[in-house]
Amino acid sequence: MSEKKTKAELTKLSEIGEFEVINHITKDFNIKNLSTVEGIGDDAAILNFQDSQIVISSDMLVEGVHFNLSYVPLKHLGYKSVVANLSDIYSMNANCTQITVNIAVSNRFTLESLEELYFGINAACKKYGVDLVGGDTTSSNKGLIISITSVGALDSKLVTRRSGAKLNDLIVVSGDIGSAYMGLQVLEREKEVFKVNPRNQPDLSKYKYLIQRQLKPEARKDVIDYLSSIELIPTSMIDISDGLSSELIHICNNSKVGCDIYEDKIPVSEELMSCCEEFNLNSTTVALSGGEDYELLFTINQKDFEKIKNSSDFSVVGHITSAESGVSLVTKAQQKIPITSQGWKSF
Ligand code: ADP
Ligand code: MG
Repeated sequence: MSEKKTKAELTKLSEIGEFEVINHITKDFNIKNLSTVEGIGDDAAILNFQDSQIVISSDMLVEGVHFNLSYVPLKHLGYKSVVANLSDIYSMNANCTQITVNIAVSNRFTLESLEELYFGINAACKKYGVDLVGGDTTSSNKGLIISITSVGALDSKLVTRRSGAKLNDLIVVSGDIGSAYMGLQVLEREKEVFKVNPRNQPDLSKYKYLIQRQLKPEARKDVIDYLSSIELIPTSMIDISDGLSSELIHICNNSKVGCDIYEDKIPVSEELMSCCEEFNLNSTTVALSGGEDYELLFTINQKDFEKIKNSSDFSVVGHITSAESGVSLVTKAQQKIPITSQGWKSF
């Protein structure tokens, strides 16, 4: 990435041609996967997966709707955009090998700002072993739009759909949830403080974990690899991008089942607990409704419990019931209440 330049030294995109921009932002990417036959440079990429089934997923992120550049550095945005996309592939129990990245940018952006964005994209590609094999670059009237498509492959016997959960299966969550949402609350509060007093230097050290979960989340490729190593194929799986509530509802609707999950089993971090206290929020509500943690939610047959029972990274939060009994939360006071979706609304 380029060192800090003064405003006058920055390169306006209008000063250089489209091809030069593309060359510049993609020059540091290397091909890592044998399945990539042809990457950037031709009219289309060529991939070869032999006998596997192909998994493909796209996401679109719009400035002002999905991200706010006043507190998200561009390199983090690049990283997170890739991570969010990979998470969708991992939730099918597949590995992601290729992505394409489309961007639309207004004339407010400079070559250096795109370099920063692509530095973050490259960091995620390196970390997760993914090849950038193409994309498109165009202009927008206002702001930045990023669209990423990711591709993976797997043996059809390993696919984990949302529709596979069966009666009495156990419901498992990886890691902890809700922290990314509280990280956003902290950042938004600091932005308001900054508006009133720009000289105020906030001490955000005690929120480090929460802010990191918001700005630099990770996708759980390690979980997919681990499940494979212990030969455990979940009966269903989904990534937690919109909050546990709405993901549970997706699994239950698609599988035509219900579920009971237990409030005291939901994995939350200590940082989340103390921050919720400070903000006067209920940590269970945050864990159920807060999005962007990119953990995995999956169901397993009870006979497979043995295989995960010693892993501290997994929490069994409940079990699958019949469709008639609905999607429910059993509270710490042993009350059963229906779960409604409060996931992010895009519109
Ligand atoms: P075309 O005119 O055929 O659409 P482009 O000039 O847009 O070709 O792209 C040239 C090459 O660069 C292609 O391989 C394309 O996939 C790749 N590319 C273009 N924009 C991007 C981008 N933003 N990120 C990654 N690759 C890109
Ligand atoms: Mg093009």
